[in-house]
Amino acid sequence: MLELSTQKPDEYPPAMEVEERWNVDTAKKIYNLPFNDLLFQAQTVHRQRFDPNAIQLSKLLSIKTGGCPEDCGYCSQSAHYPTGLKASKLLQVEKVVAEARKARDSGATRYCMGAAWRSPKDRDIDMVVAMVEGVRALGMETCMTLGMLSPQQAARLAGAGLDYYNHNIDTSERFYSAIISTRSFADRLETLAHVRDAGIKVCSGGILGMGETVDDHIAMLVTLANLPVPPESVPINMLIPIPGSKLANAAPVDPIEFVRAIALARILMPETHVRLSAGRSDMSDEMQALCFLAGANSIFVGDTLLTTGNPGEDHDAALFRRLGLKAMPLGASE
Ligand code: SF4
Repeated sequence: MLELSTQKPDEYPPAMEVEERWNVDTAKKIYNLPFNDLLFQAQTVHRQRFDPNAIQLSKLLSIKTGGCPEDCGYCSQSAHYPTGLKASKLLQVEKVVAEARKARDSGATRYCMGAAWRSPKDRDIDMVVAMVEGVRALGMETCMTLGMLSPQQAARLAGAGLDYYNHNIDTSERFYSAIISTRSFADRLETLAHVRDAGIKVCSGGILGMGETVDDHIAMLVTLANLPVPPESVPINMLIPIPGSKLANAAPVDPIEFVRAIALARILMPETHVRLSAGRSDMSDEMQALCFLAGANSIFVGDTLLTTGNPGEDHDAALFRRLGLKAMPLGASE
């Protein structure tokens, strides 16, 4: 027989105060609250800052695919693993702008462009600057993910009007070297600092289901929350194991642990858009609904991400109807 709750209403955990700096012990206590209490706290925090039924829609395009010199164990684009992905060159600016226009016309407000580089060369920056300018002229927010940036490169992107730069910390500092050996956790933080110093908004999150522990989930979120300014956008991905990659046979993450991580992200970073990112195609509608209840308020739309699958627009439209969700208008939370 299941254990009966003996908790009386006046013993419920008090509404959480927003802390300036978080420590891992406090974050663990929050993470380990009874699930209903955790979701209640997360939803309470969420409602203080956001329309609880509005979801920000982003669209992602791979502007340069495959052949990456980095060895990220989760990635289809790393040249270190026989994933069978065909590499391609940097797309032409006109093609990128045309794709962005289609995304805007189907409701996306932010256009995210990703290139499989360790870091861009200066001649690449000329091309991506033209892409940023072209997409911004459509009235969309822009985001780029291009690998490590020098302060000068970050300044050029800022000068072009780039709104967001994505650079995930991926996991905890402790677990980082088990997943990637060609760069360090400190390298990631350094690029994030260059991006922030240039005046670009930060998008940084990670992936769950790579063989890490719950403590790694908590440590990763505490690191993000304790950046000098927390990221404006935190994508939380569920690993899609890529055949041929180092993590091809990784065990799936427990869905309840995943939802708990979303709720903790919401509580530690109340102002942030928490994005339910890669892995949605392997989630049930019910799991996605729990993630939205836990405070996720951004998704990628369209049937592909950089190289992996995503629920199609028809499926998302049906899910939004069933849950009474709406697309968040541009600038709604700023
Ligand atoms: S995640 Fe990015 S940096 Fe890592 S291998 Fe893939 S494309 Fe390269």
